[in-house]
Amino acid sequence: MRTAIISDIHGNLEALEAVLASIRSEGMDRIICLGDIVGYGADPGPCIDLVRSACAFAVLGNHDAAAVDISLAERFSSHAAAAIIWTGTKLSAEHLQYLRGLPLLHAESDRLYVHASPLEPALWNYVFDSIDAREALTEVDRGVCFIGHTHTPALFRDRKAAGPLRREESAIINVGSVGQPRDGAPEASYGTFDDDAWSYRNVRVPYDIDTAAKKIRESGLPSRLADRLFVGR
Ligand code: ZN
Repeated sequence: MRTAIISDIHGNLEALEAVLASIRSEGMDRIICLGDIVGYGADPGPCIDLVRSACAFAVLGNHDAAAVDISLAERFSSHAAAAIIWTGTKLSAEHLQYLRGLPLLHAESDRLYVHASPLEPALWNYVFDSIDAREALTEVDRGVCFIGHTHTPALFRDRKAAGPLRREESAIINVGSVGQPRDGAPEASYGTFDDDAWSYRNVRVPYDIDTAAKKIRESGLPSRLADRLFVGR
């Protein structure tokens, strides 16, 4: 089975639509979402609707959690907090109920899906480097743990591992961000995983950044959130 994994959409409808079109053209069997459907972007509601209809399942992100319970935005930067307050006013009771129902983590036999570090997922710890990953890998006995949260695609393996990814080893794969990449490349990011071949691929998709940025500016969200889309920072 071939699975597409998306994360950190952040209310960017233009990016999400481009990614879903790319996934369709790749002929994937299913789509899984690792959370942060909302926050930062101008279309939180339409993004929830699309994720709900397109994805087999989704897990909760820290911005999704804060949209439901604003007290969780305490540790957010000022622009992230401003965006999540704005987002809360744009969501229907049904949208909020959907976000409230998302689990922190979803496990399959040899795969784990979680927004941030699998080590105490509710703390939303980042896995930035191999030191963070080594700690997080203690939660992954075998197989692959798919994460998002840093908005930067990455693959972390055991120190001794080399060559193609193997079923017997444990690995952490960050699929990057659909709606707000931060690795210096503005193209939307997602991952594909083939569990017969046990192979992973990161895919980048250009999208209509002008429109996404214009909507952010016109909605009264902090303009920095529009500017950063063009540079992927
Ligand atoms: Zn995020």
